[in-house]
Amino acid sequence: MSSTHEQLLEMGRQHLWLPFTQMKDYDRDPLIIESGQGVKVRDTEGKEYYDGFSSVWLNVHGHRKEELNEAIRQQLEKIAHSTLLGMTNVPATELAAKLVEITPAGLDRVFYSDSGATAVEIALKMAYQYWRNIGEPQKQRFITMKNGYHGDTVGAISVGAVDLFHQIYEPLMFESIKVPYPYVYRHPSRDAEICKAECLRELRQTLEKHHNEVAALIVEPLVQGAGGMITMPDGFLKEVRELCREYNVLVIFDEVATGFGKTGKLFAMENDDTVPDIMTSGKGLTGGYLPIAITMTSEKIYQAFYDDYAKMKTFFHGHSYTGNQLGCAVALENLKLFEQEDIVSRVARKAEYIAELMKSVSEIEIVGEVRQRGFMIGVEIVQDKETREPFPQGMRAGYEITLEMRRRGMLSRPMGDVLVFMPPLAATKKELQEMVGIMRESIRTYSAERQLAGGVK
Ligand SMILES: *Cc1c(COP(=O)(O)O)cnc(C)c1O
Repeated sequence: MSSTHEQLLEMGRQHLWLPFTQMKDYDRDPLIIESGQGVKVRDTEGKEYYDGFSSVWLNVHGHRKEELNEAIRQQLEKIAHSTLLGMTNVPATELAAKLVEITPAGLDRVFYSDSGATAVEIALKMAYQYWRNIGEPQKQRFITMKNGYHGDTVGAISVGAVDLFHQIYEPLMFESIKVPYPYVYRHPSRDAEICKAECLRELRQTLEKHHNEVAALIVEPLVQGAGGMITMPDGFLKEVRELCREYNVLVIFDEVATGFGKTGKLFAMENDDTVPDIMTSGKGLTGGYLPIAITMTSEKIYQAFYDDYAKMKTFFHGHSYTGNQLGCAVALENLKLFEQEDIVSRVARKAEYIAELMKSVSEIEIVGEVRQRGFMIGVEIVQDKETREPFPQGMRAGYEITLEMRRRGMLSRPMGDVLVFMPPLAATKKELQEMVGIMRESIRTYSAERQLAGGVK
């Protein structure tokens, strides 16, 4: 390391601005990561932390995985980057073929970009232009679900519906149609079947009224991530898909978070045995190494753009680093490791072990609900377990508990008062046990402090 910890702190304080971060908070508790190994990262003072959120939902095999490092080195000896505009390259082509092979039938074409948000932008523009290209230009609008999150660019926030992130920017956005999402824990009935039926009824009414002007519906399959790790009842996704088919509306599954093994299947949609017209994914695709994202679609949609240039059906979209070779090479190696190390079925088995461990977390007085799908776990913190009343927002319970977790040696980031536990898929049982232990003790500590202060009802 060329700079000392103190020098780095000072440089950061003077010059950096971090994403999704109130810098006033950061300056109180700064953290600079220097290296990583396996499921741990180490800061510039030498303190180690479990990567309890996979560096925001990315990491798969742990840090500094030798095979992934080697794949990048080998690619580097050939070329680091050349453009995908009007030409292709070797790993981008091989990766496309691999992705079509491992995704459910009906996803036949791969369009690359460099983040989840750009993959979503592409999906939206693709859906919009599809209808235009086939002579139905009135289908221009999008349906999204309350609490949905699809990234932070202006198009992606236009189909986002997390009030905290999105309300401020409303004047900048195009208006999408919002339908309810089955957030069972917060539904008055507290009943999954009632909640699900009500959401589907409202979706049907919305489609009935708007289908002629709607290009597509976008949804996060199985788990709304950034909205608060909110799991959907079984069968809901498939019914959404079928309703859209009935009303001639395209469906976009945003598997940016859920893709690549996180839910115990390679893609979350497989849990409900359904396939969209367009799928976006990213995050785990490169094992958490490099920024590659994908938008996949059917041959039918692809063909609607394939024509003589003068017909003006070309998809006018691209980014400087689209199809980057280093990223595609490491993604290919990542997918090879998924097969060699049987990652997905091991996730499914280890998820049962996590569920066992989480029982001791559920019991804590201020834990309202533990939600889990595979390795995606959310813990909703409440002031009152019976009434489900949240802590006052200003207390920042989720944030405070996460700081306590950090003191005890694990990193994560909450969404409001929902704590996130999303360890790298390669985490061993022993590591999982230690991580859950840190989480449990951190919540207990916070709970005990609140009781002393008279804050828990
Ligand atoms: C993280 C996420 C995105 C945005 O991905 P970035 O790579 O951060 O732009 C989009 N959709 C979902 C469901 C996500 O979880």
